[in-house]
Amino acid sequence: MKRLLALLMVTAAALTWAAESPPETTAIISNVTVVDGTGAPARKGAVRIAGNRIVAVGDLLPEKNEIIIDGGGKVLAPGFIDTHSHHDADIAESRDMVAVTSQGVTTIIVGQDGKSPSPLADFYTKIDESPIAVNIGSYSGHNTLREQGMNAARRAATDEEVARMSQLLEEDLAAGAFGLSTGLVYETGNFSTPAEVLALAKVSASHGGRYISHIRNEGFELMPALQEVIEIGRQTGMPVHVSHLKIAAKRLWGTSDKVLTLLNDARASGVDITADVYPYTYWQSTMRVMFPHQDYSDRKGLAFMLMESTPPDGLHFVKYAPDPTVVGETLAEIAKERGGHPVDVYLDLMKKVIDYENAHPDEERVEAIVGKSMHEDDIIRFMTWEHSNICSDGMSLGHPRGHGTFPRVLGHYVREKKVMTLEQAVHKMTGLAAKHLGITDRGTLAPGSAADLVLFDPETIMDRATLEKPTTLSSGIEKVWVNGKLVFQERRTTGVRPGVIVRAAKGAGS
Ligand SMILES: [Zn+2]
Repeated sequence: MKRLLALLMVTAAALTWAAESPPETTAIISNVTVVDGTGAPARKGAVRIAGNRIVAVGDLLPEKNEIIIDGGGKVLAPGFIDTHSHHDADIAESRDMVAVTSQGVTTIIVGQDGKSPSPLADFYTKIDESPIAVNIGSYSGHNTLREQGMNAARRAATDEEVARMSQLLEEDLAAGAFGLSTGLVYETGNFSTPAEVLALAKVSASHGGRYISHIRNEGFELMPALQEVIEIGRQTGMPVHVSHLKIAAKRLWGTSDKVLTLLNDARASGVDITADVYPYTYWQSTMRVMFPHQDYSDRKGLAFMLMESTPPDGLHFVKYAPDPTVVGETLAEIAKERGGHPVDVYLDLMKKVIDYENAHPDEERVEAIVGKSMHEDDIIRFMTWEHSNICSDGMSLGHPRGHGTFPRVLGHYVREKKVMTLEQAVHKMTGLAAKHLGITDRGTLAPGSAADLVLFDPETIMDRATLEKPTTLSSGIEKVWVNGKLVFQERRTTGVRPGVIVRAAKGAGS
């Protein structure tokens, strides 16, 4: 009887305790090399997670009733954060986001290059209702604001239009946008004046937001284009970020030191300027970027770009709705088949795109090209700059960066070329990326941080996606967790979709 009473009392106590704080099953990922995202040296250890959070990191022993995951001696790092992603384009196809998770990426930031889901609040409601496998955040895009606020007019905005766009921007910021993004080579941001951009940037700054920019020119006018970003940082006091820093003009190859001097000098004078970089010598964009003056029948401008930036044999068509048979071919090959000069052939292909767009006004992304115009030495210098982080600029379509970026940095640039240490590279994919977004609860392995994790083999990690086969999955990524849930293992997504919306931390100005 005594024993029964004692048992009852214990049971009651347990029940009371359970009601007060439900015991959470913890899991320990043990037997791993911890690379914690801060840049600190790797160390052997384990990570314990409870629910969607990390609760302990270090020399841990499994506890009773704990789920034990053997990491097999591989590297455990914070899930990678892609600060410049177009993978929101993949959501319609599959919310599993295999292009993203298969790289170890657990958070994507979209709304880039001036184009964003609009209104952002509605987009976020849809994601909340039907989540995706990874976390997602967004900027508010200037060109999208121009569509909504001034009917995408191909001219600079009036004061009244700036006021209207400011209001739309404020709505996106209130929904959690990280700030203003611009795409100043794209329609119709390419018609904006620096004053218009600055006025909108000030709105972002006054709400504690940030500024991120695909700058006006990545070739011969690179330096003045960077000056515009620096000036915005100086005048607003907010952090400014250069998207996919590159030198896309042959004659300027090798001048990356000069570019970094400009950025370092700006930093020394108090401007918080940073950048992201993707690890490829070729870009992906629209055919229109080959026309420097927003005139898509400009023969001279196009000829200059084919001569000085992207040669016909380095210009690949990856999407072309008016005639899909040219997909996979270079401009040089198409010109040869048609017996024409590459400039004439390109002008003709461009004209057909415009006709096609006019006939199909609702169709998005009618064409896409990949162009080779960078030198690897410049990429390495930019990638190893203390204030740059890694981004993909990718999506499933076209460029292999959509599937390969992060493993490529770890395999090609860290293991093979040894341009930086594994710890530095991981920092540029995690802790530093988070810092460039103002996120504090992701990007490092620390108690209290979100349990976004990637387990990978540093000896085999490598991108496998190529221009010919851009969707081939990388090797070496073993397991990926988002908010404590396994989303990818054994080269497959698990079908679990634990991603949440990542919102900007509210700054002092808001
Ligand atoms: Zn861009």
